[in-house]
Amino acid sequence: MAGRWRRMTITTACAGLIMPGAGLAAQAHAGAAASYLGANCQAGAHTLAPPGSHLYPETGNGGYTSVHTLVHLVYNAATNEFLPGNSVLLTDRATECLSSFSLDFERKSANTGAGPDMTVRSVTVNGTAARFTFVQPTYPGDPHGQNDPNPAAHEASQTNPVGGPRHNPLPPACSPELPNTRTSPDALDGTQCPANKLVITPAAPVPNGSVFTVKVSYTGRPGVHNDGDGTTEGWFRAPDGGFVTTEPVGSEDWMPLNDYPAAKPTYDFSDTVNLGKTVLANGVLISEQRNPASAEFPGGSVTWNWHSPAPVASYLVEDSVGNYHLTERVADNGTRYYQAQDLAIPAARRQKNRAIMNLQQNITEFESQFSGSYPFTSDGVVVGTPPASFEEEMQTMITFAGGFINTDVLYHENMHQWWGDHVTESNYTMTFYKEGMATLAEELYQARLAEDKAGGPYSAKGQAAFQASLVKQFNQIYASAGSFWTVAPSNPEPAGLFSGSSTYARPSAAYIALRQILGPGNFTQALEQVQAGYGGGSITEAQWEAAFSRWLPVQTSACRARLSQFFTQWFDTAYPPGGGANRPRISGPGLHGPDFYNPEGGCS
Ligand SMILES: [Zn+2]
Repeated sequence: MAGRWRRMTITTACAGLIMPGAGLAAQAHAGAAASYLGANCQAGAHTLAPPGSHLYPETGNGGYTSVHTLVHLVYNAATNEFLPGNSVLLTDRATECLSSFSLDFERKSANTGAGPDMTVRSVTVNGTAARFTFVQPTYPGDPHGQNDPNPAAHEASQTNPVGGPRHNPLPPACSPELPNTRTSPDALDGTQCPANKLVITPAAPVPNGSVFTVKVSYTGRPGVHNDGDGTTEGWFRAPDGGFVTTEPVGSEDWMPLNDYPAAKPTYDFSDTVNLGKTVLANGVLISEQRNPASAEFPGGSVTWNWHSPAPVASYLVEDSVGNYHLTERVADNGTRYYQAQDLAIPAARRQKNRAIMNLQQNITEFESQFSGSYPFTSDGVVVGTPPASFEEEMQTMITFAGGFINTDVLYHENMHQWWGDHVTESNYTMTFYKEGMATLAEELYQARLAEDKAGGPYSAKGQAAFQASLVKQFNQIYASAGSFWTVAPSNPEPAGLFSGSSTYARPSAAYIALRQILGPGNFTQALEQVQAGYGGGSITEAQWEAAFSRWLPVQTSACRARLSQFFTQWFDTAYPPGGGANRPRISGPGLHGPDFYNPEGGCS
């Protein structure tokens, strides 16, 4: 995601975000179910977030891994509603014997205007009807279990502990859903979390190791999620349809899923919509079939089938429907490039947008020089009209909002196809890892412009200009003062996750320094090895560090220790304000700041 701009409009006039609690009585019921099923089977965890998390601790579900998802929308674009027959079919693999398990699904919101208003009609497990209920999340690691009867175990906050008016000393169970960007980030601390955990109890326990299917049928209006920074993400209403851009957690506002970055099933989409509407999703377009008129679609309908053979992280699932003009082109290396724009965008603007969209193959080839070969069989861009406050790297179908695309941000979002999409962060606290790489792509673009001006990539002057540009950009970032260094990139709060220097500029400067420390060749080798080793899955900060450590040109324990210090300073340390001495004190060769190496070329 490119940094969010905070909209100054009020998205909802709600009086409060306390959802009437379906929670506790239903939880007691689920607990009773577990006890008669025997000691070997238990309820799957209602979160994947580590204990103490204060960044979306409510998300993810344990006890199984997500293997494949078939999305089957039956969607009336005119009324913005999912109709009877609308469903998702999730294929999962149990990692323990499950008496029950959960999904994330925000079917109703305090945001009654743009938020979702959906109803679950039925749930089946392996084709057999299952019981289901919605419960509140509990703070991860609660020793009293996920059905803790203490209401304080189910409260929202930006921070750990919750604090709030009643000085709750426990960690938060969810990140607050701020009604708008003018609300204080702490305004909802201590309020009850909404009951967005869909707990499913199958007729019989699911044995450990077995692959099982879960079909959730639901109807109603999809919508947006109010985030901890007061902006919204999810299913935005577009003229005659919807525009889907969801980072970090808004996918659950249009479909039930295991809503966690490291949960990455493959996807098929089979969406039936009004005749004349276009469906845009991840992967490649397989077919488009016309259906005869029906009760739901008196004017006829069309079923669009998309297929993503590559796994897709929770926040990168694309499924927009509307008046999109879609084109497809196959590049000489076989990659399919899709371009889509909402027809409501004025023609002159669309033409300007198209000129930038046409750069995508060239940008992909440029970025491949640093990241390795392009990881997917397709790539694409959709320009929508809703004024979502951000652009996003939806896998193989990048979303631009507000009817407008620009080149710099296309470099950013396209770089995410390697960093975030193919190799996903292991959890939300590692958002800096992939945003830093995407910001690096913007800096590489600036260096490329300098290179072209000086004679191009095959001239010595051009290459020198490229290098000088990166050094200059590092030095500018490193000179930052004020509050620039005051948040540790790996410990952000929801309110600042997508707007702070800790997520974008600071880690990007660290990567320029790492390129100097390893040398450009080794730096690219490290990146390519990460793509090969972790592609299709996710990576932790320790694994990320180890990849660079392996490619240090000086393989001594002192240099490996110094690299660990470098990671701690650049990614894990909050400094007092001011800059100067209050910033990372390890830099790289040729850059401002103390060098990584000593004068003898070693580390000390
Ligand atoms: Zn980004």
